[in-house]
Amino acid sequence: MPEVSPATSLVSLVRSLYSVQVTLGEASYSKEYVLVTQSIIHTIKERFKEVRQDEQRLHALRNALQDKLTEPAERGQKEQELSQIDREIESLEEESGNIRKALARVDSGNFGVCSSCGRLIEPRRLEAMPWTELCIVCARQQEAQAT
Ligand SMILES: [Zn+2]
Repeated sequence: MPEVSPATSLVSLVRSLYSVQVTLGEASYSKEYVLVTQSIIHTIKERFKEVRQDEQRLHALRNALQDKLTEPAERGQKEQELSQIDREIESLEEESGNIRKALARVDSGNFGVCSSCGRLIEPRRLEAMPWTELCIVCARQQEAQAT
C-alpha cells in the first residue's frame, strides 16, 4: 500500500467535506452549496411561520375594528387604523406569496437553480431573495431586455 503524505490526506479530507457532489433530482450540487441552501430554506420556513401568525393576528384585529365602525364617535380614527392594518396585511401577503414561491421551488427540487441557464444561483442572492428563479447574470440580461 502506498504511503499517503499528510498534505495529500488533508487535501482529500477537504475534498470529502466540500467537494462531494450530491445529486438531488437532475442537478448536481457541491455539498457546501447544499448546506448553504438548506440553511436558507430553514430560515424562510421559520419566517413563513411568523408571517402567517402576523397575518392571522392582523386579520383578527381588522375584524374587531370593523365591528367598532358602527359607533359614530370613533369612526374617523378607526377608519385610519383600519387602512393602516390593510397596508400591513398587504405587505405580509406579498411576503408570504414570495415565500410560497420559494417553498414551491424547494418542493420541485429547483431551489437554487437558475430556470434560464441551469447554473446554481449565488447563495448571497438566494439569501436576499429566496424566491428568485434567476441567477444574477440572467436577471441582468432580462432587465436589460426589459428596458
Ligand atoms: Zn442563469
